[in-house]
Amino acid sequence: MRKDSLKHKGLRNQLANQLETRGIHNESVLEAIRTVPRHLFLDKTLEAYAYEDRAIPIGAEQTISHPYTVAFQTELLELQPKMKVLEIGTGSGYQSAILSYLEAEVYSVERQLELFRKAEMFFSTFRWKPKLIRYADGYKGLPEFAPFDRIVVTAGAKEVPKALLAQLKIGGILVIPVGEEQQKMTVIERKGSKEFHKTVYGDFQFVPLLNSTEGVKR
Ligand code: SAH
Repeated sequence: MRKDSLKHKGLRNQLANQLETRGIHNESVLEAIRTVPRHLFLDKTLEAYAYEDRAIPIGAEQTISHPYTVAFQTELLELQPKMKVLEIGTGSGYQSAILSYLEAEVYSVERQLELFRKAEMFFSTFRWKPKLIRYADGYKGLPEFAPFDRIVVTAGAKEVPKALLAQLKIGGILVIPVGEEQQKMTVIERKGSKEFHKTVYGDFQFVPLLNSTEGVKR
């Protein structure tokens, strides 16, 4: 089992300070970045890059998001402890761990079998873990556990999946990067059964959210 160390903790502190300078102000989110060991979510050969603000390959042609992106999406969720949160795109599991550290009840969905298996194995011995990880197509959400207080999509979507809007509680918030080459970070708040309020933020670059008609590597 790989370990955390004081050196890693120091690097996380520096990273959190850097994210604060770039505009992340939520103290709990910064605390989560300072606490959750991002290097453990990466292949050992890439560990040295863990506390730089960059995306890093995690296998199956996917990447762990930039720490800034993780922090920004988490801040936009405006979490309260015990909220039920659906994450689309488990990937390395890092975002799930950050949400779990913040005491969210996390349901995470991953569509690449290899990554799903790796994450399941990883979380079997890790402290801050989601309540459930499912190997499934996140485009459809997770209807059997809906509705959710919050939904966060960690891959770029061509459009907002209708199933995700339907699975949001009234008063709930969906954070989703929308666009093809580049994505605008989009926050959708459900105000009523048919009433949604959208706020659009700046540009990001995510791996694509694949729908069920696109190829999956098994
Ligand atoms: N939250 C992850 C980010 C991983 S990148 C982390 O912290 O590491 C985005 C992930 O979304 C990839 O693992 C990709 O396989 C997954 N993905 C893409 N389309 C998906 C879909 N339709 N359903 C579920 N997961 C999907």
